[in-house]
Amino acid sequence: MNILEVSGLKVNYGGISAVKGIDFYIEQGEMVALIGANGAGKSSTLNALSGIVPASSGEVRFAGHIVTHLPAYELVKQGCSLVPEGRGVFKRMNVFENLQMGAFLQENPAEFKRLLDQVYTFFPRLEERSTQMAGTLSGGEQQMVAMGRALMAQPKLLLLDEPSMGLAPLMVETIFNVIHSLTKTGITILLVEQNARLALQLAQRAYVMESGLITLTGSGAELMADTRVRQAYLGE
Ligand code: ATP
Repeated sequence: MNILEVSGLKVNYGGISAVKGIDFYIEQGEMVALIGANGAGKSSTLNALSGIVPASSGEVRFAGHIVTHLPAYELVKQGCSLVPEGRGVFKRMNVFENLQMGAFLQENPAEFKRLLDQVYTFFPRLEERSTQMAGTLSGGEQQMVAMGRALMAQPKLLLLDEPSMGLAPLMVETIFNVIHSLTKTGITILLVEQNARLALQLAQRAYVMESGLITLTGSGAELMADTRVRQAYLGE
């Protein structure tokens, strides 16, 4: 079953056409990567899927329902959460409060506790730093907060925008290990990543975006072996 089906999606900013009509799908439980150069339209795609920017045209179907023009909080309610580029943590709130914000839909204290424990199991560092102001955390720790906050909403589909950006190699490894573990919990993931090698190693399937269009698709392994991908995105 496809949890997400996108057809003819376009995103415009005034006269600028960032996404020019793309079609793609994600199956339930899949880990799919979206790779491409700077400015290809990857973030605009994720932002449109999560209701942060409006789709100019096209249709987004999530878990069987058309959600194209729903606001972000409605999409979170339906099970689609974004971890935005740049993390967007609430800097003047502590780690725990950031995680609490992610659980704004949760009214059951026992369930809240279960979700919090789950996030702390994925990211023990967040439990250690639960009372620290998020703005004073390292970039990697802020990435953990942003991911933890999204997970507190119990998403069916997690949209990750450039989780490795600006992080030291060891922190990238930590974050990607968690992404890998998350896939084993049954959650569906759409990963936008500049680090194409890492993304293709981890993803079952991937799409390549160029100038607002999807130009290639295949399994992670197929794309790793594709000469065009190797030259353009793997630096070979
Ligand atoms: P990057 O990896 O650099 O984030 P990207 O593939 O995610 O790139 P987008 O951020 O979606 O690409 O940008 C696609 C195009 O849309 C770019 O030309 C960008 O300048 C433009 N764009 C993005 N956001 C806006 C905005 N709010 N207003 C105007 N133009 C925008």
